[in-house]
Amino acid sequence: MINIAGLNDASIQRTADIISTGRLAAFPTETVYGLGADATNDGAVAAIFALKNRPDFNPLIVHVPDIDSASEHVHFTPIAHTLATAFWPGPMSLVLERKDQSTVSLLAVAGLDTMAVRIPSHSIARAILNRANCPIAAPSANLSGEVSPTEAAHVVNSFRNIKTMDTFSVLDGGRCAVGLESTVIDARGDVPVLLRPGGVTFEELTERIGKLKLVSENELTHRSPGQLSRHYAPQTPLRLNVSAPRSGEGLLGFGPSTTLSTQNLSPSGNLTEAAANLFKMLRIMDEENLKSIAVAPIPSMGLGQAINDRLKRAATRIAAE
Ligand code: AMP
Ligand code: MG
Repeated sequence: MINIAGLNDASIQRTADIISTGRLAAFPTETVYGLGADATNDGAVAAIFALKNRPDFNPLIVHVPDIDSASEHVHFTPIAHTLATAFWPGPMSLVLERKDQSTVSLLAVAGLDTMAVRIPSHSIARAILNRANCPIAAPSANLSGEVSPTEAAHVVNSFRNIKTMDTFSVLDGGRCAVGLESTVIDARGDVPVLLRPGGVTFEELTERIGKLKLVSENELTHRSPGQLSRHYAPQTPLRLNVSAPRSGEGLLGFGPSTTLSTQNLSPSGNLTEAAANLFKMLRIMDEENLKSIAVAPIPSMGLGQAINDRLKRAATRIAAE
């Protein structure tokens, strides 16, 4: 069930409270309506993927209220400062190196060492960010594969057939002014790279910063998530669908099992919990000098599909090297 919440101070506060207590709520930004979750909460981020029914784990854009908050999570480069000063708040996301001490969920960044951050300009989004007091992961509030919503009614329409356990609400802020996703720029190097065109145009960018690298379609698929070369994969080889690990192997378990696992994605067999733990546990096991990581079978339903997709990519990458 989805409710549309009319816009007033109480509903803004309620939306902020819902998000800061680990649940999901949709709200308007200047680009499109976002489905927001506390970006530091693994379970809440997993719930985004579950609700959107995403078949894979693409990294999410992390929204913050100001540059100081962004600096807690990513390393700013000089060019990132220039871009931030010129275009924030606004429809631009910067991909930067993630700080080790960042509290943002590894699931939100798909296990990567980078993170996309944005300061939105929409007054409602800003009020929610200020009041929730946590960074907010907010992909578009629609089912995977559908067109992004630019009105509250689109959000309701997209999720109309979804039977969620929880009711979630959409804060109605009218139509989104930009109506296009944010421009995504990799600002780690000296010359920024345009990863996704969006609300801030190429002309606006080049006028301000001079050089902007465009990548070819082919290169782009390697740079942007969804492609295995840019995804996090452990250094330790992975073996999938294993019920009996070999000696020297660690077992990444799932569900109740008689075999002792090194880590268990979800002892109760809950796929949302498993998604929340996936990247964290892979990283922990990668540090343990194991001969290989054996992964227990994970059912390919719901989030299990995204989990298996990611595991398969990680396993294939090692095999190909
Ligand atoms: P959205 O679905 O609008 O929230 O945008 C998410 C998109 O932002 C991803 O599909 C990527 O294209 C991009 N993105 C997010 N994080 C990163 C990252 N760490 N590196 C590169 N691109 C990113
Ligand atoms: Mg989308």
